[in-house]
Amino acid sequence: MIDCLFCKIVRGEIPATKVAENEVCLAFRDIGPKAPVHVLVIPKSHYGSMDDVPTAEVIGAMGLMAQQVARQEGIAETGYRCVINTGADGGQTVGHVHLHVLGGRALGWPPG
Ligand code: AMP
Repeated sequence: MIDCLFCKIVRGEIPATKVAENEVCLAFRDIGPKAPVHVLVIPKSHYGSMDDVPTAEVIGAMGLMAQQVARQEGIAETGYRCVINTGADGGQTVGHVHLHVLGGRALGWPPG
């Protein structure tokens, strides 16, 4: 997708602080962190939202990269939250599916 913000990050046209990468997914720090650790995991291919992801492989790859990020960031033991906001009511603001990995402090529940 030419104009997609996260596709531009995948192509290296917009800078991002990468924390993990493989053939399927990329993980980078959220520009507006909501917790001490806040990393976004995205598929390199463009899917508008979680609702558009066609295969278990892509969803599984995102989940496994979230585990990797949590271990790298030192929050696997203390715990973390994975969030995929989907659509307008889900609070999604960027139209390329992404998984938030949040941790480094106790997180409130339920979200607002
Ligand atoms: P969501 O509201 O679930 O769509 O989350 C979008 C997230 O993308 C927000 O947490 C933003 O802070 C983050 N974000 C927007 N632009 C960038 C960027 N250029 N680099 C890193 N994170 C970004």
